[in-house]
Amino acid sequence: YDDRDGKIWMDGTLVEWRDAKVHILTHALHYASSVFEGERCYNGKIFKGVEHSERLKRSANLLDFDIPYSVDEIEAAKYAMLEANGWTDAYVRAVAWRGAGEDMGVSAKKNPVRLAVAGWEWGNYYGDAKMKGAKLDIAKWRRPDPATIPCEAKAAGLYMICTMSKHAAEEKGCSDALMYDYRGYVAEATGANIFFVKDGEVHTPKPDCFLNGITRQTVLGMLAERGVTVHERHIMPEELDGFEQCWLTGTAAEVTPVGQIGDYTFEVGALTRDIAENYEKLVRL
Ligand code: PMP
Repeated sequence: YDDRDGKIWMDGTLVEWRDAKVHILTHALHYASSVFEGERCYNGKIFKGVEHSERLKRSANLLDFDIPYSVDEIEAAKYAMLEANGWTDAYVRAVAWRGAGEDMGVSAKKNPVRLAVAGWEWGNYYGDAKMKGAKLDIAKWRRPDPATIPCEAKAAGLYMICTMSKHAAEEKGCSDALMYDYRGYVAEATGANIFFVKDGEVHTPKPDCFLNGITRQTVLGMLAERGVTVHERHIMPEELDGFEQCWLTGTAAEVTPVGQIGDYTFEVGALTRDIAENYEKLVRL
């Protein structure tokens, strides 16, 4: 996958896809000093691009480093990359990290901070079954305590348990895993937030130890416009039994209905379809 045609923006210039390399002594590779964004460009416009660039800079600050580019410069880099590849519809991946440098220990104040923006064409995150309802496993790993790790950061280090949970789910024929948090409350999937419907009202976990996704916030706005009552609260695993509908939100996942979590089943109901279909319209406005 690394040896192909295409362009990637790296540290201020567009480079050939196959030349977009880093050194083996990159600090981030050893110590996870890396933050990233996942964004989608629809019809030539990145949905909430500025919000993503701002989150990228905030994530870096939470990991104690500064990205040496402004939000405007990051925006320009994303569009330059898209244009160089001739894409109007693509997934955009910005990544910032501590590079190779004088320090190869835990401390890395003197190592350069690097930024790259790549992209690729990415269809439905959960494949063709999207509107039929995804099947989720329940992960054995839990989202950590905010006193353990800066959980509002979209930081590479937070994804180690996500990859392990997703692999375990895929081995069981599921497309993703629902993760509980360190207290045992329902938290999120490995790369998407979760919503439930019961008696016409929506329940979604309070994002106090995981990413309050940009898609999640967009969907909360859509629900408010519809006058739907939303309860942002701590949700116990036993409650999964009583929910009628469920969906996931995320830049890659967009709004994906969930049909099953472990032994609990959900219908792809009217509200789920309304939100999923209208999200697709909203991102293309
Ligand atoms: N949680 C996790 C762990 C994620 O990786 C993502 C995707 N960035 C989300 C939630 C959803 O965030 P967003 O809607 O901003 O893409």
